[in-house]
Amino acid sequence: MTNTDTADATSTATQVAALAAAGSQLVRLTVNNEAAAAAVPDIVSRLADLGVTVPLVGDFHYNGHLLLAKYPACARALAKYRINPGNVGGKRRDENFRTIVQMAIDNGKPVRIGVNWGSLDQDLLTQMMDENAESGSPRTAKDVYIEAMLASALRSAELAEAVGLSHDLILLSAKVSHVPDLVEVYERLAARCDYPLHLGLTEAGMGMKGQVASAGALSILLAKGVGDTIRVSLTPKPNGDRSEEVRVAQQILQSLGLRSFTPQVTACPGCGRTTSTYFQHMAEDIQTYLLEQMHTWKTTRPGVEALNVAVMGCVVNGPGESKHANLGISLPGTFEEPKAPVYVDGKLLTTLKGDHIVQEFLVILDAYVARNYPSPLGEPVAQA
Ligand code: SF4
Repeated sequence: MTNTDTADATSTATQVAALAAAGSQLVRLTVNNEAAAAAVPDIVSRLADLGVTVPLVGDFHYNGHLLLAKYPACARALAKYRINPGNVGGKRRDENFRTIVQMAIDNGKPVRIGVNWGSLDQDLLTQMMDENAESGSPRTAKDVYIEAMLASALRSAELAEAVGLSHDLILLSAKVSHVPDLVEVYERLAARCDYPLHLGLTEAGMGMKGQVASAGALSILLAKGVGDTIRVSLTPKPNGDRSEEVRVAQQILQSLGLRSFTPQVTACPGCGRTTSTYFQHMAEDIQTYLLEQMHTWKTTRPGVEALNVAVMGCVVNGPGESKHANLGISLPGTFEEPKAPVYVDGKLLTTLKGDHIVQEFLVILDAYVARNYPSPLGEPVAQA
C-alpha cells in the first residue's frame, strides 16, 4: 500500500511503479478526499505512460459513497474497492454501503470487505457483547470480539450480494495485530465461507518485529491453505523504502515453497570451524550478484527465480547441502585443505583454489543459468 498523499499524482505514481517493480501485483492507495479521488485517473494514466499496469485498489473510509459517486472516472480507473464496514457511516451505514456496492456493480469491479479490529462496527460489537452478557454461559470478551469481526464481514458480504454484487466479486479480510488472534480469526472465517481471503497482520510494526510477526502469522495460515492474497504491513523508517514490505511478502511465499521470485542462497550461519569473514563476504557477494542479475534475468531467463545456490562455510555440511542445491560451494574451514569443492546438480564439478574463488564460482553460475534457463530472445552473441 502506498504512503504518499494520493492527491500528489506524481509521487503516488512513482511509488506505485516502485512497488510494482519490487514485485507487488496489486497496489492499494487511500482515496480519502476529493483531491485524492480526482487524482486517481491521472495516476493510472501516468503509470500507463511508464508501462506499469498493476491494478490499483481504492481504500475507502467514511466518504467512499460520496467520492465514488462524484468522481466516476476514479470509480472506473480503480480495479477494486476496499470497504471497511466499520467506517461507512453511523445511522446510514447500510445505505452508504449499498451505494458503494452499487458503484462496484455499475463499474464491474470487485469489492474487498476489509474488517479491522481497530475500526470494528461498534454497534454490532455492543449488541453482541450485550447478548453474550445475558446468555447463560457467556464466552470470553476476546471470543465475542472475534465473532463480531466475522459477523461484520459475513453480514456485509450478504448485504453486498443482496444489492446484486456477484458472489465471485467479493473478497474478505479481517485483520488484527496479534498473531494468535489473527490465526484464530482467519481459521474461523475460512471455515464459514468460500470467499477469497486477503491476509495481513495489521499494524505489524517496524523492522524485524514487523517482519517476523507477519511471517509467523501468515505462514501458519498459508501452510493450512488459508489465504489468497497477502499484504505485509510494515512501518517504514523515516524516508525508508516502502518496497520492503513487498520483498518480505515475497520471501514468505518463497520460503513456504508457494511461489518463486528470486534465486535463493542457502548459507550456513558459520561457526568456530570457519572463523574468517571470507565466508560471510562470499555469501553476501553471491546473494548480491543474484539480486542484481534478476533485474535482467527476470525477462531473459524465465524460471531462474527457482534457482537455489548453497554457500557453506566448511565440509561438515557443505557437500551435503550443496548436493541438494542447483549449485553449491563449500569453503575450506579452519585447518582444512585450502580448496573449495563446487557441486552442480548434485555432482562434484570442480574444486576451486586460490584468491579468485568467488569470481570463478560466478562464471560457473552464469554458465549454469545460460544452459538451464535459455533466453526466449536467443543467447547474446559475442561481438568482435
Ligand atoms: S557448515 Fe561448517 S562452518 Fe558452517 S555452520 Fe556447519 S560446521 Fe560451521
